[in-house]
Amino acid sequence: MALRATAARGAAAARVAEAATAARTAAAAAAAPPHLETPLLHSEPLSRHLGAEVYLKMDCLQPTGSFKIRGIGATVRSLVADGARRVVSSSGGNAGLATAFAARQLGVPATVVVPTSTPESTCAKLRAYGAEVVVHGAAWDEANDKATAVAEAAGGALVHPFDQATTWRGHATLVEELARQLPRAPDAIVTVVGGGGLLMGILEGLELVGWEASTRVVACETEGASSMAQSLAAGALVTLPEIASVAKSLGAKRVSQAVFERCRALGPSRVLPVVVSDKMAVSACARFAAEHRVLVEPACGAGLAAVYENIDALQSCRVVVVEVCGGSGVDLAMLRAWMGELGVD
Ligand SMILES: *Cc1c(COP(=O)(O)O)cnc(C)c1O
Repeated sequence: MALRATAARGAAAARVAEAATAARTAAAAAAAPPHLETPLLHSEPLSRHLGAEVYLKMDCLQPTGSFKIRGIGATVRSLVADGARRVVSSSGGNAGLATAFAARQLGVPATVVVPTSTPESTCAKLRAYGAEVVVHGAAWDEANDKATAVAEAAGGALVHPFDQATTWRGHATLVEELARQLPRAPDAIVTVVGGGGLLMGILEGLELVGWEASTRVVACETEGASSMAQSLAAGALVTLPEIASVAKSLGAKRVSQAVFERCRALGPSRVLPVVVSDKMAVSACARFAAEHRVLVEPACGAGLAAVYENIDALQSCRVVVVEVCGGSGVDLAMLRAWMGELGVD
């Protein structure tokens, strides 16, 4: 008798949980994406500097401060629509913030496992978005192993910072917006590469809007984080022994294999790897702030540096779009400190 009552209560609870999951799933499928359509600004200073029409895709204005919410938002939505009851991220950077933000919007709990090197200010931002923060491991690899274990134990779904098809499709929305915002295909899109998710999204977007033959992608990295440029030069995936760059958001020791293979197949006429120094990236951040009154991470500065440094590949271009990918890991004090360390005046 007692046993049967317990079983009945268990079944009722299971039905309630099922109904809640179904409601969340339906809400996730119906919800608007968490990212914004960002402005495309014509830059007078950069256009004069390069001698071309330079446009800025202002993804630094996205919620959580970077383009990441486009793709990560799409992935969180798709995981929840497939029934995930929790999402788990292993990023102490912009991908973790985007995961927490998207999960809160959908009413689903998020756990973000961050390495011990993560600044307290980032943990505070994550908690403010309602995420549970677990500090584990000296570097991303260890945090990622822990995140995998947390996801398994809690019935959660993992959100990778750059290596999921749903994330690439979400990032591709930036090119779909460009197709509405520009009268014609740009000659080049300047972007940056960490693990390669943003780059893959741009390549997919170019195909979606039919610009793949007309628009070259300039894919920038800093010297100490040049895992894509080194892999393309070697013709095989290169794993960096360490990340030695101030551009922390570019700090994937190894890029996504799928993205690497795509770039290698397309060749340098379609995707051109470019490597700049930390000093060039930070100098670009400072100049961009002075000229456009906007603060971005050195990761984003690596792309701006390609324009400020007048790289050869941009000399024949008439219309150039810079993906201003942004980043929340910067403030005035940090920018000043990097400028001091690197001798930028
Ligand atoms: C994540 C990130 C990158 C790198 O993006 P990937 O998809 O890993 O290549 C660059 N800049 C900023 C600001 C980022 O947050």
